[in-house]
Amino acid sequence: MKKILLLCMALIGSLLLVAGCGGNTASKDGGSDKAKVLKVATNADFAPFEFQGADGKEYQGFDMDLIRALGKEMGMQVKIDNISFDGLIPALQTGNIDVAISGMSINDDRKKKVAFSDPYYEAGLTIMVKADNNNIKSFKDLQGKKIAVQIGTTSATEAKKIPNAEVKELNSSADTFLELKAGNVDAVINDKPVNDYYKVKNSDDSVKRIGEKLTLENYGIAMNKDNTELVKNLNEALKKLKANGEYNKIYKKWFGTDAPAAT
Ligand code: GLN
Repeated sequence: MKKILLLCMALIGSLLLVAGCGGNTASKDGGSDKAKVLKVATNADFAPFEFQGADGKEYQGFDMDLIRALGKEMGMQVKIDNISFDGLIPALQTGNIDVAISGMSINDDRKKKVAFSDPYYEAGLTIMVKADNNNIKSFKDLQGKKIAVQIGTTSATEAKKIPNAEVKELNSSADTFLELKAGNVDAVINDKPVNDYYKVKNSDDSVKRIGEKLTLENYGIAMNKDNTELVKNLNEALKKLKANGEYNKIYKKWFGTDAPAAT
């Protein structure tokens, strides 16, 4: 009888142990489990926010530094995958990834599908044309013109509103620049910092930027709507990085100036 009792106690003990372990590994996103992986996706063809380094190994850019710093702040290991821009929201919805950081503008349409962090960068759309183009001086002049944009972006949405414009939707902003230089389109529409970075980084005299900004857009980090815990933790981490100067350090590295006070 005593033996059976001991056996039962041992059995209960080991069951409790197993249950305990299970509880640990199943800890919620952003929980205390230090080894927890934050599955991040981006479309790494959008310099200076995300692009593949020259060595082809590490993803670089403002967003990449920011998400690594946020992961560190949350005690999570950041794993970054490169996928198409229009695949980011579906990947969040199916739960294949935890966050998408990809210069993604917060807007009402996307807010129906995913949750966004607090804004972390203010952008907007601008035009770039060939340097010798004197007909296009503003968005109004794009009527009836051939325009290259990146698929699934706010540039694509806005370009499609321009009367009689022929809109070419390409896979990346880098592709839109190639199309412009090849003379296959009259103009490209991209986020201002992306047009600026391309022009300045490549010292490309064959293209010029039009100053007018069509929209004001705030970038946010997108997450699954059900993942309220992660949204909360990420926003807290973002606040911390803004308060402790880390955000500003990353901003200065990529844009050469201090971050505007509002961000
Ligand atoms: N900010 C734009 C958007 O959200 C472009 C983003 C991008 O091409 N990575 O649509």
